[in-house]
Amino acid sequence: MIRNGKDISSGSVVSTQVCIIGSGPAGITAAWCLQKAGIKVTLIEGSRDYGTAWKESWPDKVLLYNGVADGLFATNEPEFLILPYVGHTSPAWERERVFGGTSAHWGGQSHWAGILQAEVPHLAGFDTEMYQFVGPNYRNFATRTFDGKTIGESPVDVILNASLLNIDHTNGIVKGLRVASMDVGSSPRKATEFKVQADVYVLACGAVANAHQLLLSNAGNEHDQVGRYFMCHPLAQGSIVRITKPYLSNAQSRLMNGQTPNGDPWHDENRVGVTGRFSPDAEQQKKLGIGSCWFWSGGGQYYFEMAPNPDSRVRLADTHDPVFGQQQTRITWELTPLDETTYNQSTQLFKAAVNHLNGDVSFQSWASVKSQLVDNGHHIGTTRMSSDPTKGVVDANLKVHSLDNLYVAGSSVFATAGISNPTFTIITLSIRLAEHLSKTLGS
Ligand SMILES: Cc1cc2nc3c(=O)[nH]c(=O)nc-3n(C[C@H](O)[C@H](O)[C@H](O)COP(=O)(O)OP(=O)(O)OC[C@H]3O[C@@H](n4cnc5c(N)ncnc54)[C@H](O)[C@@H]3O)c2cc1C
Repeated sequence: MIRNGKDISSGSVVSTQVCIIGSGPAGITAAWCLQKAGIKVTLIEGSRDYGTAWKESWPDKVLLYNGVADGLFATNEPEFLILPYVGHTSPAWERERVFGGTSAHWGGQSHWAGILQAEVPHLAGFDTEMYQFVGPNYRNFATRTFDGKTIGESPVDVILNASLLNIDHTNGIVKGLRVASMDVGSSPRKATEFKVQADVYVLACGAVANAHQLLLSNAGNEHDQVGRYFMCHPLAQGSIVRITKPYLSNAQSRLMNGQTPNGDPWHDENRVGVTGRFSPDAEQQKKLGIGSCWFWSGGGQYYFEMAPNPDSRVRLADTHDPVFGQQQTRITWELTPLDETTYNQSTQLFKAAVNHLNGDVSFQSWASVKSQLVDNGHHIGTTRMSSDPTKGVVDANLKVHSLDNLYVAGSSVFATAGISNPTFTIITLSIRLAEHLSKTLGS
């Protein structure tokens, strides 16, 4: 069932067992699994159905996601918080405020170790990894089906146009949520404001907004950890790596580019394709003290694992949004010297491996690479998991340390960024969270 927050009258209370905030892959996965276990679930989403073209939600995004982006963003991606999709020259449109969340336009790529393993080329010191794309039928979590039904056709009470304003809590317990809808006419304004009361709450608004919401509500931040360790998989898109002397056979190159032996794009009956990457193996990473990265077989872009940095963070800005009057997001993206080491060491390692196969490569300088980096849509950290409440925000069950009935879903809980696209791990953690909550609420 899908309804509009504008149809819920001001002052009323929506009661449920579990309230999930945010309808991206993290929230929809948890909602689906919980309702399947017989739990009553309300899913609130701060924007609307994407309609015929999800760009209809852009006004909501600009009004409610805007803020200040500084640090490396100031030079490389000043519009990080609200980057639009169409017409932008880079692929780094970053996040959406729309039913289905950022899955409305994600690539749908994830690490896939299973196939073709015996035939891929071997580079000394590297793992050859194959990545798959989920295919058009599965990409958007608002429209894809689970057991033949979309989330809107399930028993979950989906409320669109329902923005979380505040998590009301006292003595370590969340008592309820303040939620508002808006009128998006020529002068957007608050339409209705109501409460949601639940036994358990799951915050699933994406890594930037998860931290923003906790900070707005002064929740879970006793040790000044909320918002810290903002990470991503930085991408430099120019010709960072040039193959100056070929090192792969034509057949190997085709395979790594996701092509059949004839050179056609490889895909299965669901139009799921694959492509290959080389990443330094775990032993090399440990020996060199570096993060992971991707090298494409034909050279080109460079993409890497950013090291955790407490000063790379989400805070509250001094400015306020024009609809609900709440403090906007301030986000600072900062790299550390370890990121430069990852670049220098991994490129040298790649060169040595290519030389071993009688090929050769050249690279741009770190300064040049750094000036081209974009965040690349994978927002990680900000409510990281730790068993120590002074070093993280959530415990191993994704519960906020200082609040008995508030959980966080999504890549904000990752302690490190790794190199794989994050959404499979997000989904796995949401399934695990739903299993944990089903047991807790069922007992
Ligand atoms: C260009 C691009 C390509 C990508 N490609 C891949 C890929 O190939 N593979 C991969 O694994 N990942 C990819 N990603 C990342 C992927 O999109 C995210 O990991 C995933 O969408 C995160 O899911 P989420 O549910 O945590 O957050 P989101 O999908 O961001 O959803 C958060 C939801 O919360 C809602 N919300 C926010 N604030 C509020 C509020 N106050 N009240 C109510 N609701 C609120 C938003 O409207 C949104 O619907 C890509 C991202 C981008 C930008």
